[in-house]
Amino acid sequence: MEKRQDASFFGQPRGLSTLFFTEMWERFSYYGMRAILLYYMYFSVSKGGLGFSQTDAASVMAIYGSLVYLSSVIGGYLSDRLWGSRKTVFYGGVLIMFGHIVLALPMGSVALFSSIALIVLGTGLLKPNVSEMVGGLYTETDDRRDSGFTIFVFGINLGSFVAPLLVGYVGLNINFHLGFSLAAVGMFFGLLQYYLGGKKHLPSNSLFPSDPLEPEDAKKLSIYVGSGIAVFALILVLLAMIGKLNINSIISLLSIIAVLTPVVYFIVILSSKKVTKVERSRVMAYIPLFIAAAIFWAISEQGSVVMALFAENQTQNNLMGFNIPASWYQSLNPLFIMIYTPIFATLWAKLGKRQPSSPAKFSTGMFFAGASYLFMVIPVSLFGAHAKVSPLWLVGSWAIIEIAEMLISPIGLSVTTKLAPKAFESQMMSMWFLADAAGQAVNSQIVHFYTPDNEIMYFSVIGAVAIIAGIILALMVKPVKKLMEGVN
Ligand code: GLU
Ligand code: ASP
Repeated sequence: MEKRQDASFFGQPRGLSTLFFTEMWERFSYYGMRAILLYYMYFSVSKGGLGFSQTDAASVMAIYGSLVYLSSVIGGYLSDRLWGSRKTVFYGGVLIMFGHIVLALPMGSVALFSSIALIVLGTGLLKPNVSEMVGGLYTETDDRRDSGFTIFVFGINLGSFVAPLLVGYVGLNINFHLGFSLAAVGMFFGLLQYYLGGKKHLPSNSLFPSDPLEPEDAKKLSIYVGSGIAVFALILVLLAMIGKLNINSIISLLSIIAVLTPVVYFIVILSSKKVTKVERSRVMAYIPLFIAAAIFWAISEQGSVVMALFAENQTQNNLMGFNIPASWYQSLNPLFIMIYTPIFATLWAKLGKRQPSSPAKFSTGMFFAGASYLFMVIPVSLFGAHAKVSPLWLVGSWAIIEIAEMLISPIGLSVTTKLAPKAFESQMMSMWFLADAAGQAVNSQIVHFYTPDNEIMYFSVIGAVAIIAGIILALMVKPVKKLMEGVN
């Protein structure tokens, strides 16, 4: 007789509740911190900030976001080969919590960069593995898997929605460090709940690595890692010798690494003997989707950078005597996701087999991503770059780009797993996060062009690039579908 399915959390296995709240709190801490970090960096010292230039602050935000997803490569590896996902997630959560605690202390730039290092590493350990564990709650044939992921993503957005309101209010209206401590408290709740719930409700195989590291591999790995670090250090020394070692050159170096990593990944996967002909064709099909995703993430992640600057500098935040904290705009992204999710779920269910293919959805998404930027050209053209405009412009822009997110983010996650060669399943999952990392690495360079006087140009060019990329992808839908070999 078949074992009775555990369906005690909205029809889903109880373990989903543990993972839901862990990731909800983790995202609460991450997006709460990010909603005030930009302002913390460039506000003057007298206003409690660090007094960076706006451009440097924007560039740091972008490269930070990039590294957070780039490090998922490390987290995936450590979980598969050393610790298993359960412990890796826990260690990650601890690092993240300490990352926020460091920022809660009034210690300036030293605290900032130590916190970035802790949170980059911690998120790399936590995020890919908590998502992977969601998949692990279901057998291959369990058709609750997709709805399980939908619930999980809802948890992500719930945390991301509440945080900018709460952490943002406290951080901007009372004190930045108090705001950062709220983020730490959030991660603490997440960890506590994970620890207690995990023991009872998470499958015990998550306690072990799926592909334990052999001594032979360990040796190879230490050589690779050792030489990587040596080359990195050497480049830093060279930069110092020519007098170019500064925050911008380090950011550029890191952004090159973030863009090259997926390229290397693709080469390794495509040239591996473990990959069959059909699988190779599917990975080829994934390349244009990956590039589209990177462009989409570049625009969407600028929401916490460029749009956050717009929210503070060019938006009328005083509404009938109430002062809207600029960080509150960060809640619009997750808010629209929560509003749109049931609409899109109904739409896909209604269309059933007649729904567009993943590349077609992606290309439509690119169009909306570009449109959200072209939309911002309107207020700047009408009122100039030095006027304060209605908050509705930002609301409108987010309403547009979140349609793109619905067409790209969940679809991409699912198509990634479907196109993954058997031997590279978890690497392909990391690849999905690498699209975001690559997009934000590019952002760390292009945000330098964002100045009020250059705004119309900035929004038009980036919007146009996304739309043109969307058109190119639309023209490629047929050949890409062919390469996908039966996957939709
Ligand atoms: N907003 C998403 C999250 O925080 C972005 C992750 C991704 O790049 O897929 O989970
Ligand atoms: N929509 C983002 C994600 O899916 C959340 C955010 O940017 O606030 O989690």
